[in-house]
Amino acid sequence: MHFNIFTLFPEMFGCYFGVSILERVQAMGLVELVVHDIRDFAHDRHRVTDEPPYGGGGGMVLKPEPIFRAVEAVTGADPARRGPVILLTPQGRQFTQSVAQELAGYEQLNLIAGRYEGVDERVRAHLVTDELSIGDYVLTGGELAAMVVIDAIVRLLPGALGAEGAAESDSYATGLLEGPHYTRPAIYRGWQVPAVLRSGHAANIARWRREQALRRTWNRRPELLLTAPLDEEDRFFLGRLAEEIGGAGADSS
Ligand code: SAM
Repeated sequence: MHFNIFTLFPEMFGCYFGVSILERVQAMGLVELVVHDIRDFAHDRHRVTDEPPYGGGGGMVLKPEPIFRAVEAVTGADPARRGPVILLTPQGRQFTQSVAQELAGYEQLNLIAGRYEGVDERVRAHLVTDELSIGDYVLTGGELAAMVVIDAIVRLLPGALGAEGAAESDSYATGLLEGPHYTRPAIYRGWQVPAVLRSGHAANIARWRREQALRRTWNRRPELLLTAPLDEEDRFFLGRLAEEIGGAGADSS
């Protein structure tokens, strides 16, 4: 999968893209992450990329010409052949696990990181094909948001996680939150790892994990239970949980 990232601050990406899974998927040839400096496409003497807003007011606005030039030079002039052009913006559609899943199906994604007051509206209207927000808050720039989006997509690509974990059981992938994890030692400060996890009984461990995921989702994000795919056993467990909580009050897990 190929990512083009358009930014005024390419140096921000080196560290994150150079370690752990993102570094490995590139070395494996699974992913190409190419960062483009918008400033390289500003052709005036001072390489100006931002100007004050028409109509007055504070802040600066990213000019359209360098962004159009950058995207068209890198991805070609034909919009049909370049894949989605995504603007990171607090006004975009909410980025979620299912959006990550949807975007993981593309061969190429192009991400534009805004700065200052954002980009000239003509970029949004005539170049951008999708707008993503990583949450209802305002960051200084779109670079962190681009890293968040890329990271969440890349770990869904077949082979990306290797032995380090399986994305299928992660929170949201199953429609539920994932249950708790334990590792050695078996007893720490008197706190024991649940015996079932040390039993070696695969079916019991799988059932325990499922029930923990249901319990945790019930406690923290009950609305997810309305849309999560549930089987008979899950419903039976949730019924028991309802009785247990009705009698004793919710625990904090
Ligand atoms: N004036 C803009 C507004 O009120 O909508 C906010 C501009 S923000 C200071 C600068 C840049 O940060 C934006 O152009 C966008 O690229 C990025 N950004 C900020 N918050 C974001 C968020 N929640 N999700 C994605 N990108 C964000």
